[in-house]
Amino acid sequence: MENGFRKDDKGSRSGGGPRGDRDRGGGGMGDDRGGGRGFGRRKVCRYCADKSLNVDYKNAGELKYFVTERGKIVPRRISGNCARHQREVATAIKRARNVALLPYTVMQHQ
Ligand SMILES: [Zn+2]
Repeated sequence: MENGFRKDDKGSRSGGGPRGDRDRGGGGMGDDRGGGRGFGRRKVCRYCADKSLNVDYKNAGELKYFVTERGKIVPRRISGNCARHQREVATAIKRARNVALLPYTVMQHQ
C-alpha cells in the first residue's frame, strides 16, 4: 500500500498550517450552480405564452430553440417550457429528426 500517505504527511507539515490536510477532499468546484449560460430565461413556456404558436415538427426554425448546438434536446428547466409543451416539443424534434430537418447529433467542428 503505497498511497503516498506518509510522504504527504511530511510534506504538508513543513509548509502549511494545521488545516492543510483537511481541506483536501473538498475540492474547489462549487461552481456548478451559477450557470447563466445566456439562454433567455422565459417565465412561461413559449407555446403557452403564444397561443397561435403550435408545436410542429415542420417548424424547424422554432424547434431549433429547443435543441442545443450539438443537437440535443434542451431540458425543460432551461427551455422554460411547461411539461405539456416540452413533451410535444420533444416529440416534434424527434419527428423532425426523422425527416432530416434537425440533426441527431452534430459533428464537432475542428
Ligand atoms: Zn406550455
